[in-house]
Amino acid sequence: MSDCVFCGIARGTIPARVIYQDELVVAFDDIHPQAPVHALIIPRSHHEHLGDSVSAELMAALFSAVPLVAAVKGVDESGYRVIVNAGRDAKQTVQHLHVHVLGGRMMSHGMVLFTPGDDDV
Ligand code: 5GP
Ligand code: ZN
Repeated sequence: MSDCVFCGIARGTIPARVIYQDELVVAFDDIHPQAPVHALIIPRSHHEHLGDSVSAELMAALFSAVPLVAAVKGVDESGYRVIVNAGRDAKQTVQHLHVHVLGGRMMSHGMVLFTPGDDDV
């Protein structure tokens, strides 16, 4: 998609700090990191979310990249969390499928924070 920022990063027309890439996926540092390590893994092809015609091959490529990215970022031993937001309630803000890899600091058990009074947004 021409106006999609992550398509631009995949094509190389929008700059990003690339960590890993192969023929199917690209991984790069998040521009607004929410942890000491915050990487994103995206497919080169445009899919809005996990439910948007993602082939088994691409699914495997996305998740196979996770431990590679964790190793490059130095959190493979210490641990990391993987998050994929899909749609409104998950607050997906970029409508190009992406896998978050977060680590570099001890996290809490809670995986989800709800925003009181924000159910209609
Ligand atoms: P979402 O909430 O959609 O799951 O997360 C989108 C993520 O993309 C956010 O963490 C945001 O900081 C990141 N992001 C948005 N625009 C850019 C960009 O232009 N470059 C990079 N590297 N990250 C971006
Ligand atoms: Zn895209």
